[in-house]
Amino acid sequence: MLQAKHKTGLVFFPAFDWAIDPTHPEREERLLYTRDQVFEEGLFDIEGINEFKPDLATIEDIQRVHFCIPDVLSVTTESHFISAGGAKTIGKAVLDKSIEKGFALVRPPGHHAMRVVHGGRGFCNINIEAIMIEYLRSEYNIGKVAIVDTDCHHGDGTQDIYWHDPETLFISVHQDGRTLYPGSGFTNELGGPTAIGTTVNIPLPPNTSDEGYLYTIKNVVLPILEDFKPDIIINSAGQDNHYTDPITNMNFSAQGYADLTTLLKPDIAVLEGGYSIEGALPYVNVGIILAMAGIDYSKVVEPDYNPENIRQSDSVSQQIENTGENVLNSWHQRSSAREQAMNKLEFDERNRNIFYDTDGIKEIQNETIRICPDCGGTLRIDSSASTGSHILAVHIPIKGCNECKQKGYDWYEGAESKDYHGIYLQDRTEDIYLKRN
Ligand SMILES: [Zn+2]
Ligand SMILES: [Zn+2]
Repeated sequence: MLQAKHKTGLVFFPAFDWAIDPTHPEREERLLYTRDQVFEEGLFDIEGINEFKPDLATIEDIQRVHFCIPDVLSVTTESHFISAGGAKTIGKAVLDKSIEKGFALVRPPGHHAMRVVHGGRGFCNINIEAIMIEYLRSEYNIGKVAIVDTDCHHGDGTQDIYWHDPETLFISVHQDGRTLYPGSGFTNELGGPTAIGTTVNIPLPPNTSDEGYLYTIKNVVLPILEDFKPDIIINSAGQDNHYTDPITNMNFSAQGYADLTTLLKPDIAVLEGGYSIEGALPYVNVGIILAMAGIDYSKVVEPDYNPENIRQSDSVSQQIENTGENVLNSWHQRSSAREQAMNKLEFDERNRNIFYDTDGIKEIQNETIRICPDCGGTLRIDSSASTGSHILAVHIPIKGCNECKQKGYDWYEGAESKDYHGIYLQDRTEDIYLKRN
């Protein structure tokens, strides 16, 4: 009888009642085919692979990460609570050591959801990885976290949430934003002044195959992880780099995904996108599960797989090498870049226009950060959306120093209610979440 080398836990949640519309690529069949394949391959007969039932995330779990406008229940469905809850179940099981590794195969996905949520972006309303991580930070003694996002789309939501957090390394490997939604994720996006360098973007050209992807993992991602020394590694495991995916232009295979998992050794994987429902998902997921469990996956091959048909060109290989060099240069200069940024004024600002493509909402955001030598710095976000709502949101980071905490409360209490539809506070130091009108 087969036995897993690493005890591995799985959660499946296909979300039968959640779809953007019945023919939309983000629909429940994504996980139904995978579940069938996992049963057919007898993965649950393997000793050391166990299925868990998903927990429900709580409102507080969501408020720990997001400012939902006007409130959590207005921008979520029950499926969102189960999807985030499924990630939480896996995170808890890994930290309780009842499993060594775990994979949350859940939907709806989350990596395009930013800290402020007026609606859905890129099929995402709430960020299921961030909700899991911040829950784990509140309940367990974990500090440094690395998130490696291998979805084909730039993980702009996760990037936004951790932009100012020097304790969270966010690495996104994705198809070049000049050629794919959401159009961001360039190598010069490195994080805010107190956290320069802990955001790492690695855009790859269209038609990158297994070779280029694995080159990047070995030569760029692994050395950065080795320097950062995270307590835990989380893989946002999007599967839309597959050569059959209908909405992207990459040439990655199930074997490639399994090799990536073997190299990366994530403690936790959370499913993100992947829209080739029959041609890719069952094979890619089985490959990832076997790789996590430390079992031979060499026979997991798509029926139409032919590496010759998807081999990348020399020019693609060259571009990937150049990008990798560029990313490593910024990584090695991160301390001096941060020192320089910290020498500036007491506050820094970021002004952005954010589009919620799923719900057609436009947001204008002004963010102010206190550049603090002692913590990640308190944030003040002024946000107005085309829904008509104008809010103020204050975030005090989990390791916020006393001065930043005081500044946060000054901002929250000093705001005039007549100027806003809602004034929000996220005090991570005390795990307190408030709203006043
Ligand atoms: Zn994607
Ligand atoms: Zn501070």
